[in-house]
Amino acid sequence: MTEPPTDASAAQIDALLAVADGSGEEGIDFDGLSIRRDDGYAISAPGFRRHGLSTGELREAAREIPAFVTNWHYWTHTVDAGDARYAFLRWLERADERVVTERYADLDAGVTRTWGQLAVTVRADENGRREYGLRHEDDLDADPGELEAYADPLCAREIAKLDDDGRYRPLKTAPTLQTGWRFDALDATDLLRAVDFLYPATIENWHLERRGELDVTHWRASAERQTGIYETVSGLPDEAVAWAAETCCVDSQCLKRRRWDLDDDEALGVERGSGEFPCREPCSLFIAAAREWTTIEREDSRTYEFELTPSEREQVEAIVDAVAEGRIGEVREADFEDSANRYRARYLRAKRFGDDLGDDGDGEE
Ligand code: SF4
Repeated sequence: MTEPPTDASAAQIDALLAVADGSGEEGIDFDGLSIRRDDGYAISAPGFRRHGLSTGELREAAREIPAFVTNWHYWTHTVDAGDARYAFLRWLERADERVVTERYADLDAGVTRTWGQLAVTVRADENGRREYGLRHEDDLDADPGELEAYADPLCAREIAKLDDDGRYRPLKTAPTLQTGWRFDALDATDLLRAVDFLYPATIENWHLERRGELDVTHWRASAERQTGIYETVSGLPDEAVAWAAETCCVDSQCLKRRRWDLDDDEALGVERGSGEFPCREPCSLFIAAAREWTTIEREDSRTYEFELTPSEREQVEAIVDAVAEGRIGEVREADFEDSANRYRARYLRAKRFGDDLGDDGDGEE
């Protein structure tokens, strides 16, 4: 059996022997490492087996499989995390998919997984201690010198506040996380704190969903319990709730995967998104937007007559589309072929809507 270069310390082997000694008939069974007390000690790992060992011989045998010993020690003695966080840390290095020796070979080079727009890279040192690097997925191949380095996970709270253009991010799971930063060599506790600041509660909900225990609050129940100025949202028609979900909850707007519907037995019939972590109830941003749409939906439709050329009609649609997709900032001033070009929009307003808008043509009231 070939192992990557690791070195179980005397303290790690002492800990292993102490647990093996105190574990009675149960022994140790962890990630392929097994120790049993049966006519002396029996120890095994994939491709390795010894039995009838004294304590001293068990110590020597453990030295021959350092990857399994250091891996056991990391997950049982170093990581201090509840069920959800522990599962997340193991998911990061594909612990349930790869045997320890393969995993260590991967960890030597660094195992990277994405979580929303985060890229988390895990590495292990020669004693099996993991280090976690964290940055925006778009910065994965960036020169570290070009990224602002942080060490305190609390800094992630500030990073989460603004997008790359310095605008406030009201929805933490919007795909607008700013780039240009990195955390190197965090321990598990600090990594989890940073992820919590960037994507609050996502680890817990992901874990609950994996266990089939996610407690989903659907739209009607959520709308019913709103109070104050948001009480009105329960009046939003069902089809408008679907339009609202199509507006707010798709991948281009939110990285959560919507699990809620109108009700337990009444689906919205709208794409749920493909994010790694679930959305268990309509969020405050959705509720605030729904309040506006509830007011709008109370109005009756009327018929208006406009005269537009076919190109102008297409232009109106293109402008709505560009605003909806957040593309306005990308339209170049001199690109007159783009229907959402600012000069073309002003021309259309001057020609067709100038008087109705009640301004003097330069945008000022
Ligand atoms: S309701 Fe959920 S999926 Fe929709 S925008 Fe809010 S957090 Fe995202």
